[in-house]
Amino acid sequence: MNAAIDLDADALIKVERLSAHFPVKSGFFGRPSAWIRAVDEVSLAIRKRETLGLVGESGCGKSTLGRTILALRRANGGSVHFEEKSVLDLPPEDLKALRRHMQLVFQDPFASLNPRETVGRAVRTALDLHKIGTARERTDAVSEIFRQVGLHPALMDRFPHEFSGGQRQRVGIARAIVLRPKFLVCDEPVSALDVSIQAQILNLLKDLQQQLGLTYLFISHNLAIVEHMADRVAVMYYGRIVEIARRDELYARPRHPYTKALFAAVPIPNPRQRTLDIQMRGDPPDPTRMPSGCRFRNRCPYAMDRCAQEEPALIEMAPDHRVACWLDS
Ligand code: SF4
Repeated sequence: MNAAIDLDADALIKVERLSAHFPVKSGFFGRPSAWIRAVDEVSLAIRKRETLGLVGESGCGKSTLGRTILALRRANGGSVHFEEKSVLDLPPEDLKALRRHMQLVFQDPFASLNPRETVGRAVRTALDLHKIGTARERTDAVSEIFRQVGLHPALMDRFPHEFSGGQRQRVGIARAIVLRPKFLVCDEPVSALDVSIQAQILNLLKDLQQQLGLTYLFISHNLAIVEHMADRVAVMYYGRIVEIARRDELYARPRHPYTKALFAAVPIPNPRQRTLDIQMRGDPPDPTRMPSGCRFRNRCPYAMDRCAQEEPALIEMAPDHRVACWLDS
């Protein structure tokens, strides 16, 4: 199992043994026939003002982990602490108050915006819900946020369909920061955008982090984008963190076979520059029937007998570099 890790004193977010399971329904009465352990006893910490990148293949549980940390979906076990507050135990009113400090930037801002509501109203709603300021002050605050994300305040009265994808994501970011949060989960925030627009949004997120002292959990399947954004990087494989390290260390010296395979799969202009040629075997596992022991073993070229018997814990192999693999222990 994943050990409790990384719980250093300057952490803003502490996650311990967090689990989130989905039932797979079948049969006449819709009873679950199996469970998917989308997040399976994950422990990690996110330090104040840092960006923790979270990478892994599609369907590995990254988004579920982000949403469970924000208490936007139910946890099946474990805990999340924001500063010293236990997020998952809070009564609804206290959770609503805490939400001021913990927000989500969506992958697809268009899907998260009401097409019949002006974007100014969409950003202002959170101020209304939390009864922050007078009506005039709320209008001024929305104008100010629009400027901060690079949109002219005159655009507040327009509707989402009148905006480009990049502008809509700026609106999505404005909505996420209007309550002046401390922590943002950015869930694939540029993957729906043209490549030419992606850099603008990434740089905006970086600038806002500097200006507002934000802490990010930055979820992406794109290793180049995570390298650009993250201070540290966690690698997730079917519900578990299998490696976590400082960005430069992880990109220079990946240790877990899955991390190495992810890097090896990234197309590079000159194949002679490729230093990792490890390839995953077989197909991704059925998430309702994960293999015993190490859950990567059916795809791992280095699997040995022990890998089928015991699941490796996440162990510190170098300073601030933890790996869950029997090869390294
Ligand atoms: Fe491969 Fe075994 Fe390490 Fe899992 S524990 S990644 S199967 S070597």
